[in-house]
This record gives sequence, C-alpha cells and structure tokens, in this order.
Amino acid sequence: MPQLPALSSEDLRSYHSQIRQRYDAFAKRGLKLNLTRGKPSAAQLDLSNELLSLPGTGDFMSGNIDCRNYGELAGLPELRALMATVFGVTADRLIVGENASLSIMHDCVAFSMLKGNCDSERPWSKESRIAFLCPVPGYDRHFSICQEFGIEMIPVPLTGNGPDMDVVEKLVAGDPQIKGIWCVPKYSNPSGTVYSNETIGRLAKMKTAARDFRIFWDNAYAVHHLTPERIEIANIDAACASHGNPNRTFIFGSTSKVTFAGAGIGVFASSKDNVGWYVKRIEKRTIGGDKLNQLRHLRLLKNADGVAALMDRHREILAPKFESVLTTFTEHLGNAGVASWTAPKGGYFISLDVMDGCAKQVVKLAKEAGVELTPAGATHPLGNDPQDRTIRIAPSFPELAEVTQAAEGVAICVLLAATEKLLAK
Ligand code: PLP
Repeated sequence: MPQLPALSSEDLRSYHSQIRQRYDAFAKRGLKLNLTRGKPSAAQLDLSNELLSLPGTGDFMSGNIDCRNYGELAGLPELRALMATVFGVTADRLIVGENASLSIMHDCVAFSMLKGNCDSERPWSKESRIAFLCPVPGYDRHFSICQEFGIEMIPVPLTGNGPDMDVVEKLVAGDPQIKGIWCVPKYSNPSGTVYSNETIGRLAKMKTAARDFRIFWDNAYAVHHLTPERIEIANIDAACASHGNPNRTFIFGSTSKVTFAGAGIGVFASSKDNVGWYVKRIEKRTIGGDKLNQLRHLRLLKNADGVAALMDRHREILAPKFESVLTTFTEHLGNAGVASWTAPKGGYFISLDVMDGCAKQVVKLAKEAGVELTPAGATHPLGNDPQDRTIRIAPSFPELAEVTQAAEGVAICVLLAATEKLLAK
C-alpha cells in the first residue's frame, strides 16, 4: 500500500484507476449493508429472551410491593439497589422508571427550560441565551435535544482523556450562560474515549460562572466492555461532592444494550436535591413506571454479577465484529496515510477520520456502492463537521460476514475519495 500523499501525480493517476476498478467491482456485487445506528443484533437480543416469559404467572410481588398496581414513582427499591451498584451511587439517589435513558435526558433539559433546576434563579427559557459545551466528536441525539430547545452548542475537542479541560475550564468560568456539558465518560460515542481520573477530577472541581451548571453524564456504556479488561473510571458523583459541588452532575444510564433496546430500564441518579427536583417534575406526568418490566429485569439480572455475566456474552458476539473492522481497515488503509481510526475497548462505535474534506464524499460513495453509513457531520453539533473528516462506524447490528464486507467497502471508498482529493490539488 503506497503512502498516497507522497505519490507523484503520475503514480497517483495510475493508483486512481486501480482503486476505481476495485470500487466498481465492489459496487457490482450489489450488496446491501448497513453500518449506521448502534443497535444490538438479534443474537444479542436473544440473550435476554427469558424476559419475554418473566416474571411469569403468579409472580408480581417485589417485597411487599404489588407490581401490578400504581405507585413507587422512583421504581422498585430492589432494582434501584442493583442499578446503584452499577452506577456508583446510593440507591436512595437513583431512580428507575422509564424504558430507556434518552427520554430522561430530554426531560432534564425540558424541565430546566420550563422551571430551572434546583439551583436556578429562573427558568432557563427566561435567560437571554443558554449554551452547552459539546465535546466532539459526540452523540447526535444529544445535539438534537439542544437544537430542539434553541440551546447554543459550543464544540470542545475531545482528547484521548476526555474533553480538553483547559478549554472547558476557561469557557465555564467566564460565561454564566453556559449551563451544561454533555459527557459520555466511558467508551464515548463514537470515539470509544474513556475519561481519565484527572479529567473527572477537573470536571468536578472547576469553577463555573453559572450556579446552576450541570454535567449531563450519559454513562450509556458503563458495563459494555469489548475486552476482558473491565475498565473502571473515577466516581463523578463522589468527586463533585468532595469538591463542594454535590448538585453538579445528572447521571443517566439504561439497560438498552444490556437487555432489550427500548424495552429496558432507564436510570437517573444524582444528589438528593437533584433527585427531589426531578421527582417533583415527573410526579405531575406519571403515577409510576412499569414495575412489571422492572420486576422481570430484576428476575433476569439478579445482581451486579448477573449484569457482568450477561455483558460477557454480549462481548463474545460484539468483539469479533469490532476486530474484523479494525483488521480490515489496517489491511486496506494501514500505510496509505489518508485515514486514522479508534480501537475502542468498549461501547458500540469506531470513529474513522478520513482526509480533511473527504467524509461526505466517502459516505456518498459508500451509499452508491451499497454500504449505508451514518451521515458525515452527525458527530458534530448541527451536523457541521468543519473539517468534513469524521465518520461513525457502527458494527454491532449486521452479521459478522457483512461487517467485514462493509468495512472493506468503506476502506475502498476512503482510498478513492482521498485519491480524487489529492488529484484535484
Ligand atoms: N447515549 C448514548 C451515548 C448512546 O450512544 C445511545 C444510543 O446509541 C443512547 C444514549 C440511547 O440510550 P437509551 O436507549 O437508553 O435511550
């Protein structure tokens, strides 16, 4: 594989005709492959099929709580205790209720806009302007929530250790209208970044001009390891409390990629004041969550060891797919000097950086050759990746053989787009 940027124009032209032929041959195979959304595969969902017959006729009590009836707005205490061990807080400060976590994140923003949070002087909607810091590359649905509510998004570079904290500290200290930051602290979407303990300490400690500033700590991949190493990160809740900022963090999580996506358990955890604030809001819109779903999750998962054992089985299915993408990229793009990619130790995504100005073209070429990718730009606020460089690869859903084919197709498109770009220069 030649270093493409180092080739003479003559060699580049000859390489271009070769790669064009490979592209045409790939497209001719008429494949229909999809690497877009990070959905669990059917084989992964099958791991939790027991849920379909749980809790079973006659099993509806959790302690003295009748799960068939209204009540227990904060969720079943036994399940809260189990989830508290996973998310590193005490059970009295963790709520289960919704079917997933995105709706809880949305509600926390919407409630803050309408009412302010428990440290706000006024509803955020009454402020002249509200801004959130958005580490990039990041999760498009976080950005969509901001867009929905007219919240300005300020991109912050994500380093290998989390957001660039020099930038974050400076911005939050100087601007009282910055009210939040989105964080996916473990196995970030899409880069797989794991926040370092130092980053977490600085987030907990930093001075914020806004009293009601919140870290939206979306720990979606808390237990989603791709290697035998079960990486642990510092406890943000404890760190914030120890620095005198107990209300700083809203923690979110779910079992969407543990059991059933969209038919799982959503988690909200925070300080006593924040949980009180959240409960006061939700008690107006529900008399209680789906406790039968909570009970069936309790019966299936049992305890933290049960969660870990199930996640090991997910890893057995997922890890070879990630491995296959990484091996294919190395084989086809390894020395070409036109792409780099992450090798995550957990989560659902690989972040692929192509030559500047080529991401949109790669996605277009891939689509025309039968490989659907997440739109270029989705990793940045308002779909605007200023360098047109980052593409999110989601290998979880297709079968392994399809993942390998799709990765090869993507690699060919990366080479073709880069060659065309270099020739245009
Ligand atoms: N947060 C992140 C970072 C995600 O990647 C995803 C799904 O891809 C979600 C949240 C969605 O979670 P849930 O199904 O709990 O709403």
